Amino acid sequence: MSAELLTLRPEGLYCAEADVFIDPWRPVPRAIFTHGHADHARAIAPEAIAAERGLGILRARLGEGIRLQGLAWGERLRLGSAIVSLHPASHVLGAAQVRVESARGEVWVVSGDYRVAADASCDAFEPVACHTFISECTFGLPIYRWRPQAEVLNEILAWWQQGAAEGRASLIYAYALGKAQRILCALADLGRDAPPVQVHRALLPLLEAYEAQGIRFAPYTPADLTAAPTPGVLFLAPPAVQGSAWATRHRRLLQQATASGWMALRGVRRRQPGVRGFVLSDHADWPGLTQAIEATGAQRVLLTHGATDTLARYLREERGIDAQGLRMAGPIRDAGVEE
Ligand SMILES: [Zn+2]
Ligand SMILES: [Zn+2]
Repeated sequence: MSAELLTLRPEGLYCAEADVFIDPWRPVPRAIFTHGHADHARAIAPEAIAAERGLGILRARLGEGIRLQGLAWGERLRLGSAIVSLHPASHVLGAAQVRVESARGEVWVVSGDYRVAADASCDAFEPVACHTFISECTFGLPIYRWRPQAEVLNEILAWWQQGAAEGRASLIYAYALGKAQRILCALADLGRDAPPVQVHRALLPLLEAYEAQGIRFAPYTPADLTAAPTPGVLFLAPPAVQGSAWATRHRRLLQQATASGWMALRGVRRRQPGVRGFVLSDHADWPGLTQAIEATGAQRVLLTHGATDTLARYLREERGIDAQGLRMAGPIRDAGVEE
């Protein structure tokens, strides 16, 4: 990929025309962060560009040590001889696809992590026309087909009701960025029918970053982990709370669940006996990936994360797209990484 608009360097994905790295994993002078998840945004650049909608999240996660420049959706920024713009990727609030246009008019889009279905906790995915699309492929197998969020929410509510009737609290392990906000946002629509919600204190800064962008949540209070769980509450906590002294001590008063796309895998569910799995992912499923890729009109697709071979072969053989895996030298992703 030597003379290409974007190339892989030891530090990460690099655009020489714009002299900028996208989601680098080693220190660089200047970065573009697609979104706030820890495998994308790291405090390893003195300055970074990101979507305005996600700046509060990045500050909450990376601290004040980085000079952040926010871009509105679609705002065009000239960097060197290239033009860079950011476009919503759904996924989590402020998650961006990065569009890079060379001086010659060649366009590449780097998807970051994305989801095609929309919900009220983030901005709807926007297909961006390009020549080359670098797409994530975390759930790039035909077995991954998500059910509508409303159906999963109804499952969660039925489970909570059952627990409440038994005098137990319902504890959902949800990733601190994205999943917790998505659930709280979906519960907001229930009004008075929403369960009483408590959240782990670790979630508070990110909830505030969402609220500062006008995202509306169901009412919630911070949970008191020095006391026993309150019967009948729905308690949202990051996965790290699973197996903690508090959760173990009070296990008879709790019913526990994990909300994640990985819960679609029986093997992952089996590793968590006694923990219910709700299949709720912030990534595109197989139909979402193929639909999003086709909507770009890209003649060439480079796939990162997950089982890239299957999707690459499908795109080549069924869709006539020049598709291949792009081996990222960064941290390997698998079940358990924030999604
Ligand atoms: Zn992500
Ligand atoms: Zn990711």
